[in-house]
Amino acid sequence: MHLYNHGGRLAVAVDGALVDVHTGSGGAHGPDPHAVLDDWSAFCAWARRLDAVGPATVDATGLDAPAPRPRQVFAIGLNYGDHADEAGFRPPDTPVVFTKFASAITGPQGDIALPEGDVDWEVELVAVIGRGGRDISEARAWSHVAGLTVGQDLSERVGQMAGPAPQFSLAKSHDGFAPMGPALVTVDELDDPDDLTIECRIDGEVVQSARTSDMIFPVPELVARLSRVVELLPGDVVFTGTPPGVGFGRTPARFLQDGEELVSTVGGVGTMRHRLRRSGAQDPGR
Ligand code: ZN
Repeated sequence: MHLYNHGGRLAVAVDGALVDVHTGSGGAHGPDPHAVLDDWSAFCAWARRLDAVGPATVDATGLDAPAPRPRQVFAIGLNYGDHADEAGFRPPDTPVVFTKFASAITGPQGDIALPEGDVDWEVELVAVIGRGGRDISEARAWSHVAGLTVGQDLSERVGQMAGPAPQFSLAKSHDGFAPMGPALVTVDELDDPDDLTIECRIDGEVVQSARTSDMIFPVPELVARLSRVVELLPGDVVFTGTPPGVGFGRTPARFLQDGEELVSTVGGVGTMRHRLRRSGAQDPGR
């Protein structure tokens, strides 16, 4: 099943077209994209009767993030060995966890403003929690995940590195720094949810290309470890870390520039397209 947030209303793909969940279910489910995550089992039973399989052919212009208002956002640092290496760290033996503040969430297309500083790209697989809980076992973890989507953990590196310790959460929470989408794809649509291609392009040039099976802590282990400490809630999202190829690990370092197009893809899950805009760059008269 591919679920979309279409203008703030939940829609599901059936035979390649979008069906509005609220009207299609006679008011039983939706329209709030988060409401179905609170009632996930009943919603899935309804969607199965519709034979909701595969993606929709949809104009991304109308789409917003599939989980736009999570109560908790988890993000994992240094979860690919070669990325830890380029960042100058040893691969961690316990997950590095921070948050991206929820007001940074935006949809899968459109412009993102570049704040002052050095803005870097980090394509990531994002897991959205369906059934919450504490002490979820690795073996049961996938059954607690509603689905997967594509994310970017955009990061302003000057602010991130300022001060005596890294400021992950704040420097990664500028306006629009947590785009997600285009769809929430249920795990049953994927041959192997633990092994997906993941890629980032800037103006057509491939800058990151890896497989999610390279993760040090795969999704089930992250769900298990996080839920040992924090109760996971329906609609929570987990940014699972970025593969190698980010800008600050390059020689010379490279950062996103005004007008560049950032394309983020996870195989079988979807593609997001964003244009970076330096504030005021469009208006030289100011
Ligand atoms: Zn990241």
